[in-house]
Amino acid sequence: MGVSGRAGRDHAIVIGASMGGLLAARVLADHFRAVTVLEGDAKPEGVQARTGVPHGEQTHVLLPGGARVLDRLFPGRSEELVRDGSKRFDYGGSRFHLIGNWMPRVETGLFSLAQTRPFLEEHLRCWVARIPNVRILYKTSANALLFDGGSVVGVTLQPGRDLRADLVIDAAGRNTRLPRWLAEHGCGTAPETHIGIGLGYTSARFRVPDRLAPDHPILYVVGRPPDQTRLGSVVSVEDGLVTGAVGGYHGDHPPGDLAGFLEFARSLHQPHVFDILSRAEPVSPLVRFRHPASVRRHYGKLPGFPEGLLAIGDAVCCFDPAFGQGMTVSAMEAEVLADCLARGAPLAGYWKRIDRVISAAWALSCGENLKYPQTTGRRPLEYHLTRAYRDRLATCGDPYVTREFYRVLTLTAHPSILLRPGVVWRLVRNTPPVRS
Ligand SMILES: Cc1cc2nc3c(=O)[nH]c(=O)nc-3n(C[C@H](O)[C@H](O)[C@H](O)COP(=O)(O)OP(=O)(O)OC[C@H]3O[C@@H](n4cnc5c(N)ncnc54)[C@H](O)[C@@H]3O)c2cc1C
Repeated sequence: MGVSGRAGRDHAIVIGASMGGLLAARVLADHFRAVTVLEGDAKPEGVQARTGVPHGEQTHVLLPGGARVLDRLFPGRSEELVRDGSKRFDYGGSRFHLIGNWMPRVETGLFSLAQTRPFLEEHLRCWVARIPNVRILYKTSANALLFDGGSVVGVTLQPGRDLRADLVIDAAGRNTRLPRWLAEHGCGTAPETHIGIGLGYTSARFRVPDRLAPDHPILYVVGRPPDQTRLGSVVSVEDGLVTGAVGGYHGDHPPGDLAGFLEFARSLHQPHVFDILSRAEPVSPLVRFRHPASVRRHYGKLPGFPEGLLAIGDAVCCFDPAFGQGMTVSAMEAEVLADCLARGAPLAGYWKRIDRVISAAWALSCGENLKYPQTTGRRPLEYHLTRAYRDRLATCGDPYVTREFYRVLTLTAHPSILLRPGVVWRLVRNTPPVRS
């Protein structure tokens, strides 16, 4: 019997000890006698960027949807994060300039966590390492899947060194080798959706003089498509610092030197990011990152997908980073996995359920991306209708509507709530203010 039933739960392997892999390990520990997490990188010495996560230097905010999952999987631990330096804040108080409009600032009770990515990962790594039946093997890469007929039964670390397991979870991130491994074994190729956005970022950490410190942990200015391709942000993190980032879509990328970075910040359609960063002291090197396309792999639609194998996080879907969705979706997928394992249901059901999670986030970010004519990828039939509706939600100014919109944006509620009569009625009643 495979892991679909309650038998066959001796050993599980997770490939990758980053956000998706560590959250998966936490969940698997409740259902398997032993869990092994394989990580190609060396064990970081505390809060440290690492080569396996090259985007780790970029701004990382955990949306309220993800923060809630973290609280459920690690009760009380977010207090530890806040004590050590994470900024917890009501998402509705953020300073957001979206769709040519400053979002109204409202109390939502939706709490987000801002910190650097290595800081968050280090905490998670320590919590998982303390789970007695989980071991993390560093400098240990999975080099192939081990098959027995149509099932995966483990991984090959090096030629002649195999590790057997009842379940293998790929959490190897955006550079996953899973599509290649499946094709090589004759399992076929899962359909993929690509949305080409040509996004490039540059960011660094800064120390901001007290008198200039932003009045909220997030200041985020996003250009209005299709004419404005640039965005910038200032996010408060641990150690009294901020991460400052600027970026642009469709090849409009910021340079990697400080003067060019600030010039790019100055060119944003609102002055606030430049005003702060131009008077702040950089305390880390500027780091660049490129995200040519968002990629979604539909493994649930691959008939030959083997038993004993699942995937999580960016290995399944890599979102436009500007929306800060990736870690939260990984966390929500981990909860789906927990529920599937608890029910003893066939694990094939996992794909259908995470598809619902991914679709909600994907529609939000890709819906904005598709406003640029240069964006490549199929425009769904409902795109034009939902676009106008979403723009009205963001610019309507009604506090109730704004709160509901934030619930969806932060992945704490399904987008269908935005079609409820209370929202529709208020939208009809309020003519949206149009501001530049
Ligand atoms: C610029 C940028 C900004 C972002 N900002 C945000 C944000 O604000 N909020 C948010 O929620 N998300 C954000 N994201 C997305 C977020 O970073 C990802 O969604 C998240 O890292 C996904 O985690 P993961 O564990 O799936 O993959 P990764 O974090 O990519 O980790 C993959 C891990 O697998 C390991 N690995 C790979 N191959 C192997 C192998 N064969 N054997 C063993 N180990 C292996 C790697 O070393 C690595 O540790 C951002 C992304 C980018 C690019």
